[in-house]
Amino acid sequence: MEKNFLSSYQPDVSLLDSAASTCAQLPLFKHRELLSGDYWRRIPAFNGVSSEEFHSHGFQQRATVTSAAQLRVTLGGLASEAFFEDLSAGIRNAPMALRISPHLLSLIDWAHPSTDPIRTQFLPLRSCQQPDHPMLQLDSLAERKDSPVAGLTHRYPDKALFLPVDTCPVYCRFCTRSYAVGAETELVAEKLKLHANQARWEEAFAYIEAHPGLEDIVISGGDSYNLRADHLEAIGGRLLGISHVRRIRFATKGLCVMPQKILSDLRWTDALTRVVELARRLHKTAVVHTHFNSPNEIVEVTQRAMNLLVERGITVRCQTVLQQGVNSEAEVMQLLIKRLGYINIQPYYVYFHDMVPGVEDLRTSLADGLQVEKRVRGTTAGFHTPAFVVDTMGGGGKRDAHSFESYDQENGIAVFTSPSVKPGERFLYFDPLGSLGEAAQARWQIPSERKAMVADALERGGEPVRGLDWRL
Ligand code: SF4
Repeated sequence: MEKNFLSSYQPDVSLLDSAASTCAQLPLFKHRELLSGDYWRRIPAFNGVSSEEFHSHGFQQRATVTSAAQLRVTLGGLASEAFFEDLSAGIRNAPMALRISPHLLSLIDWAHPSTDPIRTQFLPLRSCQQPDHPMLQLDSLAERKDSPVAGLTHRYPDKALFLPVDTCPVYCRFCTRSYAVGAETELVAEKLKLHANQARWEEAFAYIEAHPGLEDIVISGGDSYNLRADHLEAIGGRLLGISHVRRIRFATKGLCVMPQKILSDLRWTDALTRVVELARRLHKTAVVHTHFNSPNEIVEVTQRAMNLLVERGITVRCQTVLQQGVNSEAEVMQLLIKRLGYINIQPYYVYFHDMVPGVEDLRTSLADGLQVEKRVRGTTAGFHTPAFVVDTMGGGGKRDAHSFESYDQENGIAVFTSPSVKPGERFLYFDPLGSLGEAAQARWQIPSERKAMVADALERGGEPVRGLDWRL
């Protein structure tokens, strides 16, 4: 069978004209149009809620929806019975539990929920779910293999990922860390427990102290938003007190899903500010990394929360996930990048979607994503243009999406190397089956054919591939 390897990879040049016209059509100031007003009043359960109450973190937490039954009560007649049945079936087939804030619920277009980009990310519909790619894995990035201490991943020479907590203010149905984050589901019956626990944290700190090469610590989870203010400050102070640690980052989706907390939970915001100020006094840096995927997630209250962080001198960067139906159209991604920049968030990464269970409908092919990147670059200043990366399966780390060693477009297999992280090894990324032709899709259903396709993709290198033996 003929293969389309690197030498025959053909970017879709027919898109060039439409790219030019898209740029021309994107209204120059659209990114500055931020939804304001009482947008929550369209949700029956929130109709009588005052602005002051809605924009308090207490209300946002109290009224967070965690089940289809609760959503039905909250929405009243806004969604059909068929929608709730579809949702209930989707939840039974999802790796993540349901958890969505009143803020996000109020931003969904309930006249068209099936295509809404926020519904798409947080409320799984069985009718949209597709069979998983046969090569995907629950912990596709192999974070646990590179964990010397529970809740600490040390993969890059100078950087470690610290997971002090395993809960979040919302649960994204596409979470890479579904092996640990949130409550157990029918699909993932047993998750790794990473509860807030100071004894476990001390083990992580001791490991970091004993490894002087570690200069950069990401504090994630779960989500730093769910750390108590005193815990956030203690963790920040403890890490900054380690002489070789130069940079820390608090990872939180909070600004996207519950910006009200920044404005109303001032104990938490003040604690964050003190950590940032401490870092500055020590001639180090402490920043926030956040996560927006849709321009619809950035509204006037988000800008107000960011304004407060800007006043306090806190740097915020964004890591976005490329998702079909959310931001896979170039003009939507352009709008997101421009809107992030407008409220002073620096777009940092756009990730190709990780290969985790239950979200095959959200993934894009490498070829399609590269076309989006091509059209985003040049939309705004280079330092506000995100790098499009593939976080490789098996633990090769993030690779520039253009840097594949080979790309078999026919069967949807890209091969990457990662010489500074795992020298001598090769790592694979697989396009979603739905993006392939019928013949290739049929081959993926046959185990011996799978093995042959992967072997063919690797034939030019023949190096071992991490984490895939169990499938081959
Ligand atoms: S906020 Fe982050 S860690 Fe939490 S569920 Fe979403 S993607 Fe996962």
